[in-house]
Amino acid sequence: MKRITIAIDGFSSCGKSTMAKSLARKIGYTYIDSGAMYRAVTLYCLDKGIIAPDGNIDETRLRDCLGKLYISFIPNRLTGSPDTYLDGVNVEEDIRQMRVSSQVSRISAIPFVREALVRQQQSMGKNKGVVMDGRDIGTTVFPDAELKIFVTADAQTRAMRRYNELKAKGDKANFDDILHNVIERDRIDQTREVSPLRKADDAITLDNSNMSVKQQDEWLIEQYRKAAAEDNDRKD
Ligand code: C5P
Repeated sequence: MKRITIAIDGFSSCGKSTMAKSLARKIGYTYIDSGAMYRAVTLYCLDKGIIAPDGNIDETRLRDCLGKLYISFIPNRLTGSPDTYLDGVNVEEDIRQMRVSSQVSRISAIPFVREALVRQQQSMGKNKGVVMDGRDIGTTVFPDAELKIFVTADAQTRAMRRYNELKAKGDKANFDDILHNVIERDRIDQTREVSPLRKADDAITLDNSNMSVKQQDEWLIEQYRKAAAEDNDRKD
């Protein structure tokens, strides 16, 4: 079977990475979390004061630093998933903190940030055999992806899942803050000028509000089988 490109886009906290990781593991593809790359840049900006305490972003400094930042993914043997590294340091935990979540959509809306990260994402997926999740994978990063999924679920359900996830990890979590963050990120992601979050015309929509993780995984592998078989027929 020839290897294809799989793009999974959708709203914040709707389980894209859970389903993308699980599919990649089953079919032996590489999973790439494009959101983690925007989060890593945001963490850097917070730590270096490029985002000031009043929220102001020093775009001149960010532009100067961006080319020198090195973001990579290294498999974690314990979790079986790739961890995000920034300049050689594991930042997987740090990039999931609320202080990053609350600024990441502002950093992601800056055109030169998108340009740089999209270029890296395209290079990571140039040999196919990748499952990449994000907001603009099917529209901008890989417009020719053989399988595109657009995931959605109602905001309350998404916030509750995220709340439960954080609680299970022992983190402090406030449901209202999470709900507000999910809604606000969606708003910024959908209204930004460069590659806003939208469903690609040829993407398949999945509303997983009332689906279990198992049902969602089964649905996704079925879509993969169909897309891979169609691709095989086309190229034979
Ligand atoms: O996927 P995740 O929720 O971790 O992404 C964090 C943020 O990164 C999103 O809210 C969005 O602002 C940004 N993002 C993006 N384009 C992508 C992936 C993520 O703008 N391809």
